[in-house]
Amino acid sequence: MTDDLEPDPSLIGGVPKPPLAFLPEPVKLFQARARRFAFLAESNELAPYLRFLAELSRLQARLAATLPPAAPVAPQRIADAAKAGMPPIDRTALAEEAALAATLEALTEGATALEMPEPGRVALEAVRAADREQRHWLLTNILSDRIPENSAAPHLFVAVAAEVHLARLAATLDAGLLVPVHVGICPACGGRPVTSSVMGMQGIENVRYAACASCATQWNEVRVKCLCCGSTKGISYRSVETTEATVKAEVCQECKSWVKIFYQVKNPSLDPVADDVGSLGLDILMKETEFRRGGFNPRLAGY
Ligand SMILES: [Zn+2]
Ligand SMILES: [Zn+2]
Repeated sequence: MTDDLEPDPSLIGGVPKPPLAFLPEPVKLFQARARRFAFLAESNELAPYLRFLAELSRLQARLAATLPPAAPVAPQRIADAAKAGMPPIDRTALAEEAALAATLEALTEGATALEMPEPGRVALEAVRAADREQRHWLLTNILSDRIPENSAAPHLFVAVAAEVHLARLAATLDAGLLVPVHVGICPACGGRPVTSSVMGMQGIENVRYAACASCATQWNEVRVKCLCCGSTKGISYRSVETTEATVKAEVCQECKSWVKIFYQVKNPSLDPVADDVGSLGLDILMKETEFRRGGFNPRLAGY
């Protein structure tokens, strides 16, 4: 009977403890992202590119729904990773994985039907013609959150294929078994964030979640803290609009980097990836400063 008297550990102090992470629902996620890209294309100078990205997200949704299911991470590995404070998904090992190679094959084949700018078409054909070794190089770069200069376009196709595979893999995990790894590091796959968002949903209102650029897991991070170095000192915010901005740059004086922060609490439609591209104006503003971009987004690598 004492059970009823035990305080709920998630409600200590009357404030519910926000969950560490929300795992992606890949099909819904990519469908919603496609709609958001299409919406942003209606009123943006980057309209043709945004429409292309909408189509690419739609293709991701289709592949997530139709490819053979991703093999779940072994329970022993999940347990060992949690004990060691590590993410259960070993991204670097995925460069060798057949299921990811098959996803890349399906994505590049599906993408041939999409309308795209000529440089995109050339890059797509290059990836399709790439041999095993070249594909391995592209995959290894993407799985290390790295895009060599002047090769943004081929890496984009590889990145969106990796996103499909990683989101499906993350979706097989149990969020309750994840442990915090490090500030600014995804607890599911060890990836870097694309952006972070101050949430508006009931229960996690005004709580910040970072979105993984690779597997789309969202994880809790305290606010006013640099996602690149973990510093809580010297954090400031910049935006293009002067008042009521829903997209800001969280700037760190310690490591001289910045990551976008979205206020979903003010605009629930903001998408961690699509609105990152849609708010390119902020990147242009920040390029004129001494600070370097910390959020990883292969869709912006060419800008
Ligand atoms: Zn991740
Ligand atoms: Zn920093």
